Amino acid sequence: MKDIKWQELGFSYVKTDYNTRCVWKDGAWGKVEVSDSEYLPIHMAATCLHYGQEVFEGLKAFRGVDGKVRFFRLEENAKRMQRSGEYLRMQVPSIELFEEMCTKAVQANAEYIPPYGTGASLYLRPLLIGTGAQVGVKEATEYTFVVFVTPVGPYFKEGFKPITVTLERLYDRAAPHGTGHTKVGGNYAASIGSGSRAHAAGFANVLYLDPSEKKYIDEFGAANFFGIKDGKYVTPDSSSVLPSITNMSLRTLAEDLGLTVENRPIPVEELATFEETGACGTAAVISPVGRIFDPLTQEYFEYGTEAGPWSVKLYTLLQDIQYGRAEDKHGWTTLIDIE
Ligand SMILES: *Cc1c(COP(=O)(O)O)cnc(C)c1O
Repeated sequence: MKDIKWQELGFSYVKTDYNTRCVWKDGAWGKVEVSDSEYLPIHMAATCLHYGQEVFEGLKAFRGVDGKVRFFRLEENAKRMQRSGEYLRMQVPSIELFEEMCTKAVQANAEYIPPYGTGASLYLRPLLIGTGAQVGVKEATEYTFVVFVTPVGPYFKEGFKPITVTLERLYDRAAPHGTGHTKVGGNYAASIGSGSRAHAAGFANVLYLDPSEKKYIDEFGAANFFGIKDGKYVTPDSSSVLPSITNMSLRTLAEDLGLTVENRPIPVEELATFEETGACGTAAVISPVGRIFDPLTQEYFEYGTEAGPWSVKLYTLLQDIQYGRAEDKHGWTTLIDIE
């Protein structure tokens, strides 16, 4: 195991020893290569550079209480990368190729898998880019699929504390009937301005509204929204929201714990009625949201200074499954063979 201060790691790039790569050309995927280079040789006319033919994924491998290493819902990430890539007319990896690329990337960097008990984990970033040269706007004839890994620290270093966020009343991260439901880099490029303005104003995150009417809650820049009230877990149904695998899992666990799940449009005014609200995604599982600022009224919706009881229960249960402490009833984890 590497000598790293695991507990002090944040969510940023830490160099590891290897990454995996695979190229699609002449109608087929080539063989999986394990590379020790951090760089990609790339043609200057590659479609990913000009026309944004790029999709990515984010998932984690966890060292469990039993010392075994597990992926969480790897197959769902594979399927989502296929859906995202197909939307951009890219060649996409099969589920088996996605699994092989991720598994080999973890195995080759086994010394970077954080030890159990540190709260740290190994983050995987699969990315698929159009690397064929093209000047006209059309799909590339060559694609590169890369998976790199980086150890990331415990998300909540000072405990599970609620964050303050702001509604975004001016800008959208994606268009109606656009790319919002796919994990394409362009959605993130479009959200960087809102995110940095919000950070400069002291907010931890931005909550976007539906781009067509601005009446309903959509999601955060990189996490889904949920609210809890009257024994219900409520999360937006919107064509511009990215289907979060964490949210999908929390919905199942919410039902297991006796909550009713509602997946429907959430009008902005309904924010006043929730007992708890949160952001959910792979990075933090749940970030409890304590206050939501509305720039239109200059007022806050408030949910308290401590994480609510349902947020704590859901967060704990999901992490217990990821770290092998609770029975994996739904078959969400897969073991990785580590020498
Ligand atoms: C990746 C992502 C999420 C979170 O999805 P998970 O599968 O839970 O990690 C939420 N919203 C957006 C916009 C995302 O890109």
